[in-house]
Amino acid sequence: MISELKPEAIKGKRVLLRCDLNVPLSKDDNGELFIADDGRIRASIPTIEFLLKEGAAIVICSHLGRPKGERNSELSLRPVAQRLSEILKKEVKFADDATSETTLSVTNDLKPGEIVLLENIRFEPAETSKDENERKEFAAKLSKLADFYVGDGFGAVHRKHASVYELAKALPHATGKLIAAEVAVLQKLTVNPARPYTVVLGGAKVSDKIGVINNLLKKVDRIAIGGGMVFTFLKAKGYEVGKSLLEIESLDTVNSILNKARDLGVEILLPTDVVVAPNFADESPSVVSITDIPVDQIGLDIGPESAKNFAAAIESSATVFWNGPMGVFEFSNFAEGTRRIAEALTNVNGLSVVGGGDSAAAVRKLGFKDSDFGYISTGGGASLEYLEGKELPGLLALQ
Ligand code: AMP
Repeated sequence: MISELKPEAIKGKRVLLRCDLNVPLSKDDNGELFIADDGRIRASIPTIEFLLKEGAAIVICSHLGRPKGERNSELSLRPVAQRLSEILKKEVKFADDATSETTLSVTNDLKPGEIVLLENIRFEPAETSKDENERKEFAAKLSKLADFYVGDGFGAVHRKHASVYELAKALPHATGKLIAAEVAVLQKLTVNPARPYTVVLGGAKVSDKIGVINNLLKKVDRIAIGGGMVFTFLKAKGYEVGKSLLEIESLDTVNSILNKARDLGVEILLPTDVVVAPNFADESPSVVSITDIPVDQIGLDIGPESAKNFAAAIESSATVFWNGPMGVFEFSNFAEGTRRIAEALTNVNGLSVVGGGDSAAAVRKLGFKDSDFGYISTGGGASLEYLEGKELPGLLALQ
């Protein structure tokens, strides 16, 4: 069991709150960075408000992107501090780093109800170091910034990083409201889920999803597959896939997944038609049967017949988990499969879960509201690893 966040534990204390404020950033026409989707910031608000209500002083830390241990102005959390301040309608101070004397004195002087956000924790090489001692040393420095640790960065719990794992162990700790909510939903997906249970997987890489497919085969009734990863499945079934994404090295594994599914009586739903184009660009779409994918074309979305079949499978299910777009939804010509699947999830009479930061950003970009779904998870990799049955360091440390 993960430790619950209780008012008496944090009342009037200096709390280091590990959030996942890893939001997608885009550039406007003037080259200025802006936050393309603030879902992860909004998901962090309930814990922050709870801490404020109990009179805690809050030091927030998070990562943003993958700066690989180096400062990178394009991955600064400064715009996130501003957005957080707008949402909370109160000042959010910003510290330029995590452990300098200046930052230490800012956090020391923090009064109850005040908030400081630390600069991107992954600018510090020790945060993601493979060397456990380096991570421990860094966590010991971070622990000086607060009296108590609250873990709430669900999107990072599958990472054994200093601010996720070692720091939780170095301070008295509790689990934030976001992680508690995420885990409660994942438990519903893994312990006696209502049936029929359908999982929909898409996105680019098969190899990322093999573990989760293998584990889910024992638990679900159907797995519908789309996105770039489906072409390795189609190839394994003997179809030609033209210039579509293909992971030749995963063909054997995919074949064994197909055999295992057949033995277990799990339906693997694959597209019957796809939308192809001559180039990886937002132009010249045409719909073809999977038996006729031209050698010089790339499959960039599932076709209308497939979307209809997938939607019917989803809408007749009592539990649905979806991770990964059905096509290159960033191009409007290839977004319809993903839009149709999102729409089907909104019609589920039961639990519908959209898993992952990218899938969440995709459904919002396509005009859906968070409240249209049963739950939108903030963590892609973290949800998948949980469903894969792996132990997640960031949850272990909070026990
Ligand atoms: P992932 O991070 O593995 O969930 O992959 C998400 C990405 O997969 C999105 O950016 C999509 O554009 C991309 N994607 C989806 N379908 C395809 C496809 N058929 N070919 C290439 N990329 C795709």
